[in-house]
Amino acid sequence: MNLLLYGAPGSGKGTQANMLRGHFGIPHIATGDMLRAEIQAGTELGRQAQPILAAGRYVSDEIMIGIVRHRLSEPDCQPGFIMDGFPRTVPQAEALDDLMGDLGKRFDRVIYLMVPVEDLLHRLSGRLVCPVCQRTYPPATEACDADGSTLVQRDDDKPEAVRPRIEIYLEKTVPVLDHYRGEGLVSEIDGRGTIDEISRQVLAAASSPSNGEVARRAGGAESKTA
Ligand code: ADP
Repeated sequence: MNLLLYGAPGSGKGTQANMLRGHFGIPHIATGDMLRAEIQAGTELGRQAQPILAAGRYVSDEIMIGIVRHRLSEPDCQPGFIMDGFPRTVPQAEALDDLMGDLGKRFDRVIYLMVPVEDLLHRLSGRLVCPVCQRTYPPATEACDADGSTLVQRDDDKPEAVRPRIEIYLEKTVPVLDHYRGEGLVSEIDGRGTIDEISRQVLAAASSPSNGEVARRAGGAESKTA
């Protein structure tokens, strides 16, 4: 089961990815978390990435494609994975097609969490995150429910970075969805309900075959029903 979570910053991808990981027992590949781990560890990549993340801009396609290529070749991804935060640009999506092809894999579903821009701005400004498990919480929450850690604010959730993140998403990442729509892979889910309601819909979408899969099973392997 290979799943792609798609949505704007603040749309709830991380929360749903955690749920899916628990349900299907497959790894969650979150490129933002991977970059933050590099920053934390003080690696060369982390040093380069830190100011880019803090400003809400994107790390180069070349670097991101290299990171994902390396991660997908690790053995724990064999049974499947949940991709979150990649691809964020059309060149990344094209590179991922090639990479998946080389590995003999395909996505079963693209799950799009839809949230209007004004809700995103509201959710991101002031949200807090657990530095240990990355769960996110509303402003003024004190500690993480899961591990008791003191919550922190991500650099890119500070007001000056939130708007640039949404703008770059609208410009560079919205076109990525069209890339997958043509393949009949996209399930659109309203990202504004309660976490439980959304989780139910995400699980149902993840467990249902895509239009492309239905066509293949029916013998129309090349059919591109949208
Ligand atoms: P969010 O989706 O809430 O913005 P992420 O944790 O997914 O947060 O990503 C944080 C930051 O990491 C992004 O704003 C960007 O700077 C960088 N990043 C993550 N994934 C990519 C990617 N695929 N391409 C370029 N930059 C990325």
